[in-house]
Amino acid sequence: MRDDILEKLRNKEEICWINPDKEEVLPRQKVNGYGFVHMKAAQTRLIRFMPYIAAKFPETADRKGIIESELVDIKEIKNWLNDRGAGIEGRVLLKKDSHLAIAGSVKARGGIHEVLKLAETLALNNELMNVTDNHICFDSEEFKELFSRYTVHVGSTGNLGISIGIMASTLGFKAVVHMSRDAKEWKKELLRSKGVEVREYSDDYGTAVRAGREEAEKDDNSYFVDDENSIDLFAGYSTAAMRLSVQLHNAGIPVDEEHPLFVYLPCGVGGAPGGITFGLKQMFGDNVHCFFVEPTAAPCMLLGMATDKHGDISVDEIGLDGVTVADGLAVKRPSAFVGELMKPLLSGIFTVADEELLVYLKEIYEREGIFLEPSACAGLKALEALNRAAESITYLNRHDLEKYKKNATHIVWATGGALVPEAERQKLLK
Ligand SMILES: *Cc1c(COP(=O)(O)O)cnc(C)c1O
Repeated sequence: MRDDILEKLRNKEEICWINPDKEEVLPRQKVNGYGFVHMKAAQTRLIRFMPYIAAKFPETADRKGIIESELVDIKEIKNWLNDRGAGIEGRVLLKKDSHLAIAGSVKARGGIHEVLKLAETLALNNELMNVTDNHICFDSEEFKELFSRYTVHVGSTGNLGISIGIMASTLGFKAVVHMSRDAKEWKKELLRSKGVEVREYSDDYGTAVRAGREEAEKDDNSYFVDDENSIDLFAGYSTAAMRLSVQLHNAGIPVDEEHPLFVYLPCGVGGAPGGITFGLKQMFGDNVHCFFVEPTAAPCMLLGMATDKHGDISVDEIGLDGVTVADGLAVKRPSAFVGELMKPLLSGIFTVADEELLVYLKEIYEREGIFLEPSACAGLKALEALNRAAESITYLNRHDLEKYKKNATHIVWATGGALVPEAERQKLLK
């Protein structure tokens, strides 16, 4: 890694890092053995479970049990950022995974998919059903009795725990969520109210994950959702891309060489933004440009990718403590699995200071009437800095994107916020 980048990371300066290993990829091209079939299999599994989801979670009934979010224009934010000198042209949209049903965050996609896959696999192995049966059958005592013999463990800074915990306990599993120090009290309360066991740790996310993994290993009837390595989580996240391509099509928004798509994704351990990036590359190949955004206190994916050490390096080693107002991104060591997969795919990573996240939180609330949690505001930093940071300007020039600026579509991926209680919202807005 370049010394000047390292120095800026140490000093918690906001930076832009461009991935030197990005390659040209075609839609549906396999990457490290993963391809379109992985995304498609997750998508069809979620479709099989639609009747069950619609029955158990009435808030999904209007979409018939599909867990999906809106894609909305945020013109007021675009104007505000341009008043601050951002120089953004083209259309600016917000992907409201912050308002996904059941879990109120991007974690709904990956977490729920992994738990459903576990349930389906157990039901098939125990010959309770055929895969073609209407999955409303999961809403029965017989299935619940089977699942009650198993415990699902997961380590989390909050939102993954909510997603896994709610889905697992609804199906009848015992669920244990190992919460890092970052987890908000209200998230723990919410889970306890759903019958989920919450274990609290005074250390960071890595410790909570390790504790969950160790405990699950002790018991044959335990299953550990491994946020650092899970392909099932990743595949679940990737389904967002298939749905997004339909939403763009329905809105009459083209994505091709002359109409580039830019996507800005908040990044913690990497699973959610990595899965979405993988899916988007499967759909759009080189016509989509994906950027992650990490807090200046926890730029773990940037450090892992820039040093090529991935999971073998922690932000501790460059003197950062990982403490940030963006609790969903408070991760010190990245997923090696995701980092490797992102090498040919990711355009770059921006970092953002906590103070800026809170400014974004306030502005998007006041100008668009949308409440987002701090982590979910991170994408706005990349949008604001794209045309201003020397590194990203070089990227735009190198990919000959300047001339299509007016045709571009920018999507800021909002990742959480819908479940934040009113009192907590007021505190953050203040
Ligand atoms: C978890 C989370 C992310 C990032 O997802 P990772 O898989 O940890 O990279 C972003 N925003 C919010 C609100 C989250 O909860």
